[in-house]
Amino acid sequence: MLSYDLHIHTEYCGHAPGMTVAAICKQAARLGLSAIAITDHVFEHSDIAKIDKIRAEAKAFQGHCTVYIGAEVDVDADHADGRLVTETFDDLDYVIAGFHYVPTVGNYPRGPEDNSLSAEAFMEVWQTSLLGVVSNPQIDTLAHPGRLLASAVDLEVYFEDALCVLEKAAALSAKNHIAWELNELTGYRLDGYWQEQWWRIYRIALDAGVKLVYGSDAHAPETIGMHTFVDLVREKLPKHCLARPEEVMRL
Ligand SMILES: [Zn+2]
Ligand SMILES: [Zn+2]
Repeated sequence: MLSYDLHIHTEYCGHAPGMTVAAICKQAARLGLSAIAITDHVFEHSDIAKIDKIRAEAKAFQGHCTVYIGAEVDVDADHADGRLVTETFDDLDYVIAGFHYVPTVGNYPRGPEDNSLSAEAFMEVWQTSLLGVVSNPQIDTLAHPGRLLASAVDLEVYFEDALCVLEKAAALSAKNHIAWELNELTGYRLDGYWQEQWWRIYRIALDAGVKLVYGSDAHAPETIGMHTFVDLVREKLPKHCLARPEEVMRL
């Protein structure tokens, strides 16, 4: 069991039933976690109000487990420069950038056939957006690197090109002190072959001096702290490659 989990959603996002702040904190305590970050989605600036509500509710549960109040702030899909949907999040302990939608068209592809851009056009806006995201020192962590790529293009064709872009992104991330997230949920979106290849993304990060942190991306209480896929990735990486939560918080 890892000692922390820095990516957890609540029922306020509308697609995580049962994830009350109380249920999350209870599960974290049951698992003996020393720290969690509740990082609900911010799809637009007004969603920050929801984060304030979570912070107020979490006050009652500060005990052995440190509860950080963060957000997964979306990359603004109306642009291809990686700007976030809001830059006003001074009160947050932890900001992770969630890159979910195809830049300029804004859809959420379930597979390459679902991508409304050509693969070439996608790779172009994916690159400019990603490099823009990791140029923003306001961000603490890049959520699930590579997940959008995996659902938007054929990895057989584009993975090696993507690794070259990720090398550039890693250099910028190191410069701007942006960690990369080892994300459990991403594993369930990849087939077995690509699950086995996913460590290469994190090897690039480590080689550039980027910190790695773990997040389950839990949308249900029983998936908090789960790291089956993350362990598969970590097997191919140096031992103790994960940073501690306090190394990546904004505090
Ligand atoms: Zn996400
Ligand atoms: Zn998430």
